Amino acid sequence: MNFRARKTMMVAQQLYEGIDLGKKEGGITGLITYMRTDSTRISNTAKNQAKDYIESQYGKEYIGKQKSQKTQEGAQDAHEAIRPTGAHRSPQSLKSVLSRDQYRLYKLIWERFIASQMAPAIMDTITAHLTNQGVEFRASGSKIKFKGFMKVYIESSDDQKKNENKWLPDLEEGTYVKAQKMEPNQHFTQPPPRYTEARLVRTLEEKGIGRPSTYAPTLDTIQRRGYVTLDNRRFVPTELGEIVIGLLEEFFPEIIDVTFTVNMEDDLDAIEEGKSQWLQVIDSFYQGFEQRLKKAEEEMEKVEIRDEPAGINCEKCGHEMVYKMGRYGKFLACSNFPDCRNTKPILKEIGVKCPRCKDGNIVERKTKKRRTFYGCDNYPNCEFISWDKPVARNCPKCESILVEKKKKKSVQVQCIECDYKEEPQG
Ligand SMILES: [Zn+2]
Ligand SMILES: [Zn+2]
Ligand SMILES: [Zn+2]
Repeated sequence: MNFRARKTMMVAQQLYEGIDLGKKEGGITGLITYMRTDSTRISNTAKNQAKDYIESQYGKEYIGKQKSQKTQEGAQDAHEAIRPTGAHRSPQSLKSVLSRDQYRLYKLIWERFIASQMAPAIMDTITAHLTNQGVEFRASGSKIKFKGFMKVYIESSDDQKKNENKWLPDLEEGTYVKAQKMEPNQHFTQPPPRYTEARLVRTLEEKGIGRPSTYAPTLDTIQRRGYVTLDNRRFVPTELGEIVIGLLEEFFPEIIDVTFTVNMEDDLDAIEEGKSQWLQVIDSFYQGFEQRLKKAEEEMEKVEIRDEPAGINCEKCGHEMVYKMGRYGKFLACSNFPDCRNTKPILKEIGVKCPRCKDGNIVERKTKKRRTFYGCDNYPNCEFISWDKPVARNCPKCESILVEKKKKKSVQVQCIECDYKEEPQG
């Protein structure tokens, strides 16, 4: 769905707190159970509701066998798993009262819940042997015999393992198939891809670090402090991030260790359950920590991160301008600070002349909320701005400004004044 962790929690909160379904349907209704949980427990009432729904919609053979449930280690079992509060409220039936984001998240939760209560799918695995002039080619794949839960939901993956499930067409022995293409391929084992937010949350969960309520804030913190940046939705460590982790590994090796966090969470759970005394737990932690801290205070050297030169000089004092990291991202500052306090936003030219003053260059800029917009570098003398990227030619019909409108999967050049539009590209 490409939701960030924080946004997911926000939309889930809305579904949990309640949506107005209209008077006939019971007014404001919470559509999902509490979302800050990692419980996988499902109440019998909910199971029976799902069973009734599955039977009425798909038939008896689609009802799954009831699995006996083990309580998941570490799960906060006061809550149930995140599930729809009414199995009968299909996403389609709520589409008119939900926003697009609410609908998409509800659909995911509902489908996954219903699917979890359905019968397994049955697959036939097939290997076809094809021979051509004594050389054998093999194709393996699977064929669905019974759809089961796949009628409702197929899990997607964000790590692009697209070819994992290959479906083969019906083949009989002796069938002739024609080769369409020869593709000699050499395969290399790929290093694991960088983490997406979703993948990182799953890893935290697998390793037992943190709790559902801490995942989104943790991801926020590492970005806000500039330890990582997002590139193409994947986390990339910054120079600062690498320095910080290096120092922590040197001076606080046991705290940076994954098992420390896991053990600490267990200890805290034990305190909550009355099995441990908090004073003892904290004391045994602090004795070692105090020494580490003292050593670090004495021995850790002050680290200065060199500012990256921007390749231009300050127009006020002639010193070199450098890139700095600020609250709203990178900006340019004079290296002669604090004597010269000249700062400038980073202007990214897009190679298009300003369509209004015909003199300035169009530059990409960001609002405080990190949304990209386009302006003229003659600002404030020229006040041209646009959310859409201007194009380096004028409208053939009315001579006005052409911009690139972003569609779902393409861009379309259109005029901001008249109805002139070009074929969508990409
Ligand atoms: Zn300066
Ligand atoms: Zn201009
Ligand atoms: Zn026009």
